[in-house]
Amino acid sequence: MFSTAFLDLPPLQGASGVVTLPGSKSISNRVLLLSALCQGTTVVHDLLDSDDTRVMLAALRQLGCGVEIDGTTVTITGLGGRAWPAEAIEFFMGNAGTAMRPLTAALSVQGGDFTLKGVPRMHERPIGDLVDALRELGCTIDYLGNAGFPPLRIGQPQLQLNKPIPVRGDVSSQFLTALLMALPLAAQNRDIAIEVVGELISKPYIEITLNLLARYGIAVERHGWERFVIPAGSRYQSPGTIHVEADASSASYFIALGAIAQGDGIRIQGVGADSIQGDIRFMDAAAQMGAKIISGPNWLEIQRGAWPLKGITLDCNHIPDAAMTLAVMALYADGPTTLRNIASWRVKETDRIVAMATESRKLGATVEEGPDWITIHPLPADQWQRASIHTYDDHRVAMCFSLAAFNADQVPVRIEDPQCVAKTFPDYFEALFSVAHTAATNIPVICIDGPTASGKGTLASRVAAQLGYHYLDSGALYRVTAHAALQAGLTLEATDEAAIAKLARSLPVRFEGEQVLLNNVDVTDAIRSEQGGMNASKVSVLPAVREALVQLQHSFQRLPGLLADGRDMGTVIFPSAPLKVFLTASAAQRAERRHKQLILKGFSANIDALRADLEARDARDMSRSVAPLKPAQDALQLDNSSLTIEASVEQVMVWWQSRQVFT
Ligand code: C5P
Repeated sequence: MFSTAFLDLPPLQGASGVVTLPGSKSISNRVLLLSALCQGTTVVHDLLDSDDTRVMLAALRQLGCGVEIDGTTVTITGLGGRAWPAEAIEFFMGNAGTAMRPLTAALSVQGGDFTLKGVPRMHERPIGDLVDALRELGCTIDYLGNAGFPPLRIGQPQLQLNKPIPVRGDVSSQFLTALLMALPLAAQNRDIAIEVVGELISKPYIEITLNLLARYGIAVERHGWERFVIPAGSRYQSPGTIHVEADASSASYFIALGAIAQGDGIRIQGVGADSIQGDIRFMDAAAQMGAKIISGPNWLEIQRGAWPLKGITLDCNHIPDAAMTLAVMALYADGPTTLRNIASWRVKETDRIVAMATESRKLGATVEEGPDWITIHPLPADQWQRASIHTYDDHRVAMCFSLAAFNADQVPVRIEDPQCVAKTFPDYFEALFSVAHTAATNIPVICIDGPTASGKGTLASRVAAQLGYHYLDSGALYRVTAHAALQAGLTLEATDEAAIAKLARSLPVRFEGEQVLLNNVDVTDAIRSEQGGMNASKVSVLPAVREALVQLQHSFQRLPGLLADGRDMGTVIFPSAPLKVFLTASAAQRAERRHKQLILKGFSANIDALRADLEARDARDMSRSVAPLKPAQDALQLDNSSLTIEASVEQVMVWWQSRQVFT
């Protein structure tokens, strides 16, 4: 997951490959609650691991459910037939509507002493229509803040089941879903009827609810979309085992990707055209805009068809979440696209009509908006702006706008707060980068070169962490090469140059966090010693060895970017890197830092000997004929003798940001 403050997406050019998507949020949280209301255990496979499901799992644990997590398989031992807690409980719902609404209903119908709170945005998301319906039923619910909004306090109900329960259906279908899932708790002796007031929106989500209720033994009678009856004697029954489909809303980004990007097409695993999720109908809308899509059980394949895409006008009531993706596809169309009947966008994680309009305009697009519609005009070449996309703590805004990186003008796109995708798709950007491609010249490299013990490694890895970029410790490659050569019985001299180069060309090295593995054996400590550094310095003067490691070093230049540290990153390996830093510190300073490091690790060390060693190493690195240690002509020099690490990181970030200006 990218937990950086922002993520800069380089201009992307194509995409091909296979993505496996995480489980559906809507199905995951419904299945969790239904499993909790059953008697006995339910094994849930392929559950989504995200903020929203964590909120639900935490609440279920607080209620006394058994929750065992093993990867994406979760075993729930339900509350059915057991006493619910009598003590007061406070639940934190984050910003998870799919947890807040159904739990409010279930807790109110069951009764207890419960408080439900969330993040500030949750306290702005309406729940009054659900509370009205529950009060009509005899539930005790108080508003702790503003009337009509969380936080809520729930007490003991006096259920009156003799008349139909009216619920508004035109603000959020989650209110009806919440009632449908909670009312079987009260349907032992009599039928319970729910009557929808107003036109029901987002019907496909109700279909998911009814479908899943059926899997849990509750056969709701549906009369049109106005009246729903839960038959007397309904009882939740665990299906034993249940599989969660991949999220169809998440699929929308990869369907759009296939339609937008050149390449051999995208295959999506985990969800197919026969999905029970309404958002799968996004594929029809994408096809209307030009995507070529084929599907089988549990998979989809998408290719670019019409290009540019075709502008469309569409009633999006049936695909409210996925429709946001159409708004970004519209930028690549041949005419305007109007998305209608999307009033529900206004009450989601953020006001999504405002968000999509504002951020599309930043890219340069012309957008018109109304109370329940939005029109997006295509953005022709020469008019794309480098924009920093604000994401409003809304996962879908972040994911949608990542698709703007395929723009004709090859401008990068900055996504602010990329970790907001954790709500439904924590590894979204990793999945995107695994299939997206672009020219190497588009993938930024920041080089940090300098003498030994100047702090390059720490600086480069910290900057990499701030930018979400990969990190290449080229020194480790020379260290590992020397280690492998000695293991193979070679000397580190020119006489064995060809043999060492041969080893280096197919070095079985792997980096895992701080660990360096050679042939799957952890060699971190062995290569990090002073002797390891001296050995590296010896093999590094051999031209054939340097040549043999070039390709391996280039392979680290992957999306979204790279921090490369070494001696010749800016001069030889990545000569066209957009930022090169040459890091220095006085020999005395460097010897002192190395001394401190070694003492901390429990080694004994002599500061004068260390200084002599590093001066010898510098001399060899600087005087060798190939790739001698020296600043690249266009490198910025940074002497960090009297700087803290934080100050050095800050300086490099300032230099980098001044070259990456976003509007
Ligand atoms: O950076 P580190 O101390 O791990 O590097 C060990 C040795 O490997 C250096 O002293 C240098 O001789 C060699 N090296 C190099 N070119 C690089 C990185 C390291 O020659 N890009």
